[in-house]
Amino acid sequence: MNEKTLTLSRLGYSEYRPLQEKAIDALCEGKDVLLAAPTGGGKSLVYQAAGLIRNGVAIVVSPLLSLMSQQVEELNKKGIRAKFLNSTLNPGEQDDLVWALRHQHIDLLYLSPEKLVQPSVIGFLHSFDIALFAIDEAHCISQWGRFFRPEYSQLGQLKQAFPDIPIIALTGTVDQNTIQTIQTSLNLTDCHVLRSSFDRTNIKIHIAQKRKAKQQLLYFLHHEVPGETGIVYCRSRKKTEEIAGWLTSLGLPSLSYHAAMLDQDKHTNHRLFAERHGTIMVATTAYGMGIDIAHVRFVVHLDLPNSPEAYFQEVGRAGRDGKPAKSLLLYGLQDMLQAQQLVSFHEETDAQHLNNLFYILENRGCRRQNLLSHFDEKIDACQHCDRCLSNRAEQNMTIASQKLLSLIYHTRGVQPFSLLIQVLLGKRTKAVLSAKAESLPLFGKGKELSEAQWKSVVRHLIAFEYITIGSSHTFTVQINEKSRTVLQGKEQIIVPNEQYYPTMEEDQIGR
Ligand code: ADP
Ligand code: ZN
Repeated sequence: MNEKTLTLSRLGYSEYRPLQEKAIDALCEGKDVLLAAPTGGGKSLVYQAAGLIRNGVAIVVSPLLSLMSQQVEELNKKGIRAKFLNSTLNPGEQDDLVWALRHQHIDLLYLSPEKLVQPSVIGFLHSFDIALFAIDEAHCISQWGRFFRPEYSQLGQLKQAFPDIPIIALTGTVDQNTIQTIQTSLNLTDCHVLRSSFDRTNIKIHIAQKRKAKQQLLYFLHHEVPGETGIVYCRSRKKTEEIAGWLTSLGLPSLSYHAAMLDQDKHTNHRLFAERHGTIMVATTAYGMGIDIAHVRFVVHLDLPNSPEAYFQEVGRAGRDGKPAKSLLLYGLQDMLQAQQLVSFHEETDAQHLNNLFYILENRGCRRQNLLSHFDEKIDACQHCDRCLSNRAEQNMTIASQKLLSLIYHTRGVQPFSLLIQVLLGKRTKAVLSAKAESLPLFGKGKELSEAQWKSVVRHLIAFEYITIGSSHTFTVQINEKSRTVLQGKEQIIVPNEQYYPTMEEDQIGR
């Protein structure tokens, strides 16, 4: 048996997956690697095996302490000498660790990014042989930028400090831009980029318009995933608690999880969720990285995720065991506008991520194709998303779009969309009257469409950037170069028909 096969069986497996083998070979040749594969793709085995094969200690960096201690424990059970360097070691233990590292009694050393970038630690790493550096969850460099793990952006110094040691950056589902950001930030100029398919064919995708979100959720839970375990994502902490309490009161056992909870409560809820089949976890995105529960059968989004990457990762927490799973995302124009308002206080890149998400949500055709094309992957229509399963009816909304855009032009973009729609529908509401909008030439000129249809036109025009939304709190909206082509009739606007997801009332439960 060669060393590669031997190492595989030491780790308890019988066969490498093709991408694992490619990555390991590259590392063994001393090349830097960027490995992008969905969660559950088997990324840990790559640095573990390559670390064992190569001479010296493999240094593994991860933002998640729990994940590191779990891996170390599992490796130790297999007789592999892994250690976790955390701040809780006392001086005696630290001395032992240093001795063990220098005498090659350790195969893998796990530590947090903030630990690794300390100058004393960098210096200390020079005192023994290093097999490789593995940087897990490398997308933390770009996704949250300096908001989240500032230490990650300092990891770029590794390549300078250790030019001859291969680095492997591991990441979940990311787009080409993020791959480039990771490469640049880590100074991996000449690295081997390996990507696996992101398509998780066992997860059904359903994206629909929000009407009465709670009642739509009930319908889904009752008709699509009765008695199953799953996650419901919401934006606000308060909402997670509210929804969890409400579901529990209806006899659907639920827990909540968000960043402001005590660590102890988070831990308990996570454990209960993992153990008790049939529980619903209502969480903010704080319930995320490192969750590996095989029997999660569904993921619902009651609010919009921040990016296609976040959406994909969150949905990907369902069906980890490869068996059929379902996802449902509910949103409306209001959600889009709110999300946009929230990111406008942050960064340009956040706004771009959100726009990419809008584009996927509003695009025509197969959901899975739209989502995967964001990750530069081409697939055939899936036949089991809401679009592939419906009649895919669409409507030419060019004239409607022209009306809306010229109304925006004439009102100089200061009005909220709700008012513009009321004007088009010719409604003499308080808002219309107080804005003296009934005298506008377009007043009542859009009665051919329903309010819902108008909203879908607005969403479409926002997603395809025919409307520019100002970044201030006042929410000014403007037409732009792209909208002019529509106004001039040079471009057609085709919008998929509005699809609502069914509802179910509380009192229908148990019937
Ligand atoms: P990731 O880090 O990409 O999310 P993991 O490393 O946690 O994925 O692996 C996901 C699952 O796949 C784990 O349960 C692991 O035991 C399993 N696995 C990884 N590689 C192999 C392999 N070569 N053969 C069989 N199972 C594997
Ligand atoms: Zn499809």
